[in-house]
Amino acid sequence: MSDLRKRWLTGPLLNLIKKVLPPISETEREAMEAGEVWWDAQLLSGKPDWDQLLNMGPPQLTDEEQAFIGGPVEKLCQMIDDWQISFEDRCIPDEVWAFLKQERFFGIIIPKEYGGLGFSPTAHADIVTKISTRSTSVAVTVMVPNSLGPGELLMAHGTDEQKKHYLPRLADGREIPCFGLTGVEAGSDAASMTDTGVVCYGDYKGEKTLGMRVNWHKRYITLGPVATILGLAFKLYDPDHLLGEREELGFTVALVPTDTAGVTIGQRHLPAMQAFQNGPNWGKDVFIPMEWIIGGQENVGRGWHMLMSALAAGRGISLPSLSTGGAKMAARMTGAYARIREQFSIPIGRFEGVQRRLAEIAGIAYVLDSAHKTTTRALDKGHKPAVVSAIMKAHATYGLRDAINDAMDIHAGKAIMDGPLNYLGNVYRAVPVAITVEGANILTRSLMIFGQGAIRCHPYLLDEMMAAENPDAEAGVEALDKLLPKHLLFQIKTLLRGVFHGWTVGIFASSPKGGGHAAKYYRQLNRYSAVLTLATEISLMSLGGELKRKELISARLGDVLSQLYLLSCTLKRFKDDGAPEGDRPLLDFAMRAGLHKVETSLLEVYQNFPRRFLGHLMHFLTMPWGHSVHTASDRQARECAELLMKPSESRDRLTKGVFLGNPGDGVDLVEQAFRKVCASEAARDKLKKGGIRLLSHDTIKEGLERKLISDEEADELRDVADAVYMAIQVDHFDDLGSKCAGKGK
Ligand SMILES: Cc1cc2nc3c(=O)[nH]c(=O)nc-3n(C[C@H](O)[C@H](O)[C@H](O)COP(=O)(O)OP(=O)(O)OC[C@H]3O[C@@H](n4cnc5c(N)ncnc54)[C@H](O)[C@@H]3O)c2cc1C
Repeated sequence: MSDLRKRWLTGPLLNLIKKVLPPISETEREAMEAGEVWWDAQLLSGKPDWDQLLNMGPPQLTDEEQAFIGGPVEKLCQMIDDWQISFEDRCIPDEVWAFLKQERFFGIIIPKEYGGLGFSPTAHADIVTKISTRSTSVAVTVMVPNSLGPGELLMAHGTDEQKKHYLPRLADGREIPCFGLTGVEAGSDAASMTDTGVVCYGDYKGEKTLGMRVNWHKRYITLGPVATILGLAFKLYDPDHLLGEREELGFTVALVPTDTAGVTIGQRHLPAMQAFQNGPNWGKDVFIPMEWIIGGQENVGRGWHMLMSALAAGRGISLPSLSTGGAKMAARMTGAYARIREQFSIPIGRFEGVQRRLAEIAGIAYVLDSAHKTTTRALDKGHKPAVVSAIMKAHATYGLRDAINDAMDIHAGKAIMDGPLNYLGNVYRAVPVAITVEGANILTRSLMIFGQGAIRCHPYLLDEMMAAENPDAEAGVEALDKLLPKHLLFQIKTLLRGVFHGWTVGIFASSPKGGGHAAKYYRQLNRYSAVLTLATEISLMSLGGELKRKELISARLGDVLSQLYLLSCTLKRFKDDGAPEGDRPLLDFAMRAGLHKVETSLLEVYQNFPRRFLGHLMHFLTMPWGHSVHTASDRQARECAELLMKPSESRDRLTKGVFLGNPGDGVDLVEQAFRKVCASEAARDKLKKGGIRLLSHDTIKEGLERKLISDEEADELRDVADAVYMAIQVDHFDDLGSKCAGKGK
């Protein structure tokens, strides 16, 4: 019976799978093998086990980590003048560099035994988050040595000798690292790089040594212009067979001191007016010994795998931290500004149009902060979730863009006029950098999140593909034969779950015990996990390899997975915080916005599905009623906006970690004015009751004369009027345009 099945069913199916499923290139395979699946696999199982996520607990910092954030990080933020760095000097001052080195900011992730701080991913992320609320340039400068680059690669793959030599020097800043992957021709398509090494003998320290002659031209390399050690990726060839049979040895990564003969460090790029060091470098016939390969000769050709492994975790920290910091800063400052800035004699944040945008910022900050906390917690626990990291990179940076755009619109002229008082403009300029680096977002969204997620998270698919690719056909049939019944059962369950929850709009879906106010959202996430799993199964079976070319279908299914991830982290955070009543507006706004996006993306998949019949069928099976979750109501948006415009525990919890400025700077002036405005509401109301709506020294005098307010209240309100007047100022420059004097008249 089983032989007959293999011959007539499993064998032909294996051939069909070979034809239908996407062929995997070598680089894709290595990317796919790097890292692991985690909560993403639960979301794509159709029935997530919430205990796995919720029992992980909230992120925690050790006393030492907390002291570092309250000490050196706070001090660093106080030292930073981002205007001076970005526009006057176009570089970070020496004393800041010295402080960064002295306090081991470049060794946050390097273990203590090598002289680093040995901090957890959560601490690392919190440090970058806080710095990024003060200066993107300094945040990037701290971020790069602690993320994908020599330090991380050495820790994971270096030889003992390399670790002993380099890690202490990297930790205290004697060595400044950079990592060169991108070249002129090869940007997103790193595999097309033309940077090469050829195995040969050469002279090293006066002796004939086996090594490589390397030629490269890299650009956009962060810290490149000041780096002392360059992590270099190139393709290695062995035409003379000095290492063995193979001529094409593949991607290799070596550490090259930048003072090596033949290495040229180019002049600086100026990325979106940010002042972190960035520039090109190139090498002409640079001879490097085999021992400079990270991990030594045995890591010849393993470069891609090494990079992908580092990315699997690293992408979940650096740019998500920077984005979360930016979004939280936007939430705190925009709420404050919308409260103190009055037009038509009322705070601008009380206008409905502004309220909606404020609520959007609050919702984004809440979701990003939640997802960031959950992701770093997973990294603390040793997970290396590659798909989750890609989701975080793309959606945190997109979230930052949305939050900053809204913050700019609400601040209007105040954020447009550049100068030291402007705390938003430079973040606005930096957003495209975050979107482009570490895998540009369009590519990440279109190709990676769902492209890799669907295959990696699927309980059987990857094994089936491996079976199909097995050169031993009989062994392939054998393996597939074992997988098929399980896969069939999975499909039946997936179909039943997807249709049931689809038709009943999730009202019978389960929610973890004690869900309380959040129970309805758990049910919706369970519902859409079931629907996404069904849509994934149908898409993979019907489109197979074509799915790779149908980037928009893949991107939208990836958006659904991404939203399910972000929203499940939001629910976890709400629970970890003790489900505070005051945070409900944030939760409601964020969950409704995210679920609405889930539904929109699914409907767009169905509408554009290449097999029209299947598109209609999926629509009918899983979303017969169309949209069933609406975005937050105007009332909910108002509650969310109000939360940003009044001092409260919820507001402080949401914006924890934002640096609140030095006395007298732009952030501090708005903070101070905000506190005073909120504290003087009672006195202000008395003026309003007397028909005086505008606040100025004249109207305060009038209120005093008409005995609407007491002398103390008048003093208080004068202080408020002065504080607001100071806070709404923008910069003007004596010397701007001195070369243009009289021109254009
Ligand atoms: C400020 C800055 C710092 C950087 N630092 C470093 C560094 O330290 N080290 C380093 O090696 N590199 C660095 N980079 C390079 C960065 O990784 C690349 O810019 C990035 O990979 C994109 O390459 P590209 O700019 O050439 O864009 P391109 O590859 O030309 O892409 C252009 C657009 O096409 C999209 N695209 C490309 N292929 C696809 C596809 N198949 N499907 C859908 N969309 C696609 C991309 O998403 C992008 O939107 C840095 C870049 C910048 C701007």
